[in-house]
Amino acid sequence: MKSFTDQNNSEIDNLNVISRFSQSRFEELHLKYNESLNMLAILVIHSTRLGPALGGCRFRPYTSLEDAIIDAMRLAHGMSYKAALCHLPLGGGKSVIIQTPTMLDRNKVFSTFAQYVDELKGRYIVAEDSGTSVADMDIIRHVTPYVTGDSRQRYSCKDPSPMTALGVRRGIEAAVKHHLKRNSLAGIHVAIQGVGNVGYHLAKELHQQGALLTIADFKTETTLRCAKEFHAKTVPAHEIHKVNCDVFSPCALSNAINADNLDEIEAKIIAGSANNQLESPLFAKHLSQKGILYAPDYVINAGGLIYVGGQYANQSEPTARENIENIYQTLMFLFEKAQKENITPLEVANTIAEQRLQLSN
Ligand code: NAD
Repeated sequence: MKSFTDQNNSEIDNLNVISRFSQSRFEELHLKYNESLNMLAILVIHSTRLGPALGGCRFRPYTSLEDAIIDAMRLAHGMSYKAALCHLPLGGGKSVIIQTPTMLDRNKVFSTFAQYVDELKGRYIVAEDSGTSVADMDIIRHVTPYVTGDSRQRYSCKDPSPMTALGVRRGIEAAVKHHLKRNSLAGIHVAIQGVGNVGYHLAKELHQQGALLTIADFKTETTLRCAKEFHAKTVPAHEIHKVNCDVFSPCALSNAINADNLDEIEAKIIAGSANNQLESPLFAKHLSQKGILYAPDYVINAGGLIYVGGQYANQSEPTARENIENIYQTLMFLFEKAQKENITPLEVANTIAEQRLQLSN
């Protein structure tokens, strides 16, 4: 007989690019190559049903082209659902530039990439993501208008990461209230995986609320800075998911909860900024059966998109911030409905998003 994780592994393996594309009703997938830079870029549009597909550009190494395409597809899919759930007039897209050690001239990399974005004539709007910065968006802006998150934006915060962190903190507050019946984060122990752009600001937010922190990151300097500023305990990266704590907060890359570590998680709540935290959506049910509350990633990490989308839609900055604070109410609604209907919060969120995207049959 196959174990739970064996079954999920084979399901994950079976979902190749083509079946993902048709099953999840993607609109476009573009693979672009520049010979002189030896640069491969992938641009994916999941849906433009509710507006232009807005989503960040990842710039990082990948072990295979298929891994990079699947990462971009999963992220684009999440962006559609995130925008739909937050009532934003935006669709979902994402892009990936596969980083190699010879790609040192960012000006050339991002101005070439900008041409690919421009060819999509506004169906895709690019912003920052892991490995890209405001300065990279400025390079793109010289070539195409279909970019946001560059330094000409009128909102006070040029980098969306602190706004994502604010939304995650509000989401953790909702999860703690619902699951642990606690009204404040004082004394709540949170283990943060990855203290980069979002994780650092989240640690700051949580420390200000009196939470106790354990952190891990591959970058020693980043880890030490965070430990010093927020009195955080540090553990090696491969141990952070095992920390016996109230909240495990994945703020690094995808698949933080996977077939190998699913049963090692000791936290009562999983709530973080990373996209695609679950290697398989089926793990949401397994976590729920173990009594662990999982806050759907694309809902809790919507703060950055709400902020960037607010600028793009000409909302006032206080309105955008208020909408980020409202991640608390959105998650509370999902948690309560899930409890009432004996399903997972992820199932509730997916159903609502699919109705709004008109993807449900
Ligand atoms: P980042 O690259 O600045 O930070 C990620 C950090 O995680 C890095 O410091 C890296 O060293 C560390 N890391 C990687 N793997 C790790 C591991 N296994 N264990 C411990 N540390 C590890 O990225 P970011 O902008 O902070 O984004 C973090 C996550 O949040 C990503 O999944 C991103 O897609 C998602 N997200 C970010 C935003 C945003 O506004 N930046 C918005 C929504 C979602």
